[in-house]
Amino acid sequence: MNVISIDSPTEEKILWAERTFEKIGPILLKDKGIVRDLELFKEANKATWDKMKALGIPQICSECDKTGGSCCRKRIDRHYDAVMLLINKLLGVQLPHRALYQGACFFLGPTGCRLWAREVICINYLCEKITAKIPHNEIVSLQKIACKEMDVLFFLQERLKKLLLGFVP
Ligand code: SF4
Ligand code: SF4
Repeated sequence: MNVISIDSPTEEKILWAERTFEKIGPILLKDKGIVRDLELFKEANKATWDKMKALGIPQICSECDKTGGSCCRKRIDRHYDAVMLLINKLLGVQLPHRALYQGACFFLGPTGCRLWAREVICINYLCEKITAKIPHNEIVSLQKIACKEMDVLFFLQERLKKLLLGFVP
């Protein structure tokens, strides 16, 4: 497998995730711990989105994007770990091969993020446009729910990294 690091270009991280999935995806998807963590992630991710929708956050972000202020219009993809992209492949996500918007995050699509599993920076970032509109107790409640998703992803990433060591030539 090619050596990949956090400093590698996004395109290389995507290729690494795709090649790794091609070579050992079926083996990884037979690992009981991985399968359980993927299911836990789906539940936790749904709970985060349900709470965000109940609070009207996607609408606030959508309005923000129309006025060009969205945080997804920055190159956040550069902070992505290749293993997070592999998790997306394990979830059945088709990773993009080109950025749609110049200067924006590589993963930004016409209807929002093209990833399912996202880094902490994308899960729990709430700017002032949101915190000014939503009561503090609801923000705290959302953060507790999002914490579960981040915890699950952390343990899944660590489990994958350990397993991947067994495949390094
Ligand atoms: S988090 Fe804030 S900056 Fe980012 S898209 Fe939503 S409203 Fe805009
Ligand atoms: S939410 Fe998705 S599109 Fe937005 S910055 Fe994060 S990875 Fe990029």
